[in-house]
Amino acid sequence: MIEPAQGFRGHKKISIATLLLAALLSILSARVSVSAAQPAAQPAAQPAPASPGWEFEDEAEREPGWREIASAQALDLGLFAAFGVLAMVSFFRKSVALKHVTFVAAVVYLGFAKSQLISIVNIFALVDWSLPIFKYSLAWYLLATFTLVSTVLWGRLYCGRVCSFGALTQLLDAVIPAKWRYDVPLRIERRASLIKYAVLGGAILYFVVTRDRMIYRYIEPFWMFSFHGSAVMWTGLAVLLVATVFVRNLYCRFLCPVGAALGLLSNLTVFRIKRWKECNTCKLCEKTCQWGAIVGPKIIKSECVRCDDCERLYMDQKKCPHWIIIKRRSDFTARPSAAPTT
Ligand code: SF4
Ligand code: SF4
Repeated sequence: MIEPAQGFRGHKKISIATLLLAALLSILSARVSVSAAQPAAQPAAQPAPASPGWEFEDEAEREPGWREIASAQALDLGLFAAFGVLAMVSFFRKSVALKHVTFVAAVVYLGFAKSQLISIVNIFALVDWSLPIFKYSLAWYLLATFTLVSTVLWGRLYCGRVCSFGALTQLLDAVIPAKWRYDVPLRIERRASLIKYAVLGGAILYFVVTRDRMIYRYIEPFWMFSFHGSAVMWTGLAVLLVATVFVRNLYCRFLCPVGAALGLLSNLTVFRIKRWKECNTCKLCEKTCQWGAIVGPKIIKSECVRCDDCERLYMDQKKCPHWIIIKRRSDFTARPSAAPTT
């Protein structure tokens, strides 16, 4: 038999347990019903977008840091730096063999592998200030800086060493027999060299008026390195290259707008080619220069590409009259009959 007190106490215990169990069940069932009522994306739990509009996946992507950007371009930067060192060593040593190695590297690496040349398109980009984004084009900026700095310091070193097309035509020049050449008379050379300034001025004017960059295809042949040409363009290039067999560096001397722009800049050249006083009458260098850049004692800075041909001659003690005269004088004073008598 159950005592009333015990029975009451027992009833009271059951009631409390029942209440606790009911509360627990109601909490659980409330949770289940809330999660069932919400869609998978749970929009209510997300913060409201800052502004209305489209949200693309790549907008949420993390911007790569400088280290990642630079390391992705490290190989290009390293290879161009190595090329720059080769070009400068060949220039300072006045070595023909090293110059030819530089030409091959310019054609193969900068030309066919990278298609990285200074172009009229870059001059258009200067005009409307739409240069490549710096951090994604480090190798191009290295090339552009090398070109500008070397032009101000020494002249058109870019044309004489770095430009792939110039390197290609100078390599052609090295293998084609000299007797096939037609030497343009200096009087015509002077006038014809002005054409490239007209091409530069005309192209910039055309771009300012039309904003059409595609004109580059018809005034420079650099697209050949990426094989992007129509039948008409390839035909024009073939004619140009055949003409270059007979007239040395035809495009560079008379037609290239980039060469014209660098020619204008090279009037600021700091380190100029040395001349002896004998250069006033001697014509040896004038005949040696394949770029028509020497007129009598004067070097025309805008036409000179620092090819070294005349500088090698200046240093040749067997050919340059400056050294021959010095040697004769010293031989004469060394003769016993020339010695003073006492
Ligand atoms: S003149 Fe023009 S094509 Fe010739 S080497 Fe200079 S930039 Fe290149
Ligand atoms: S021969 Fe002399 S003047 Fe002529 S392009 Fe070469 S470095 Fe310049």
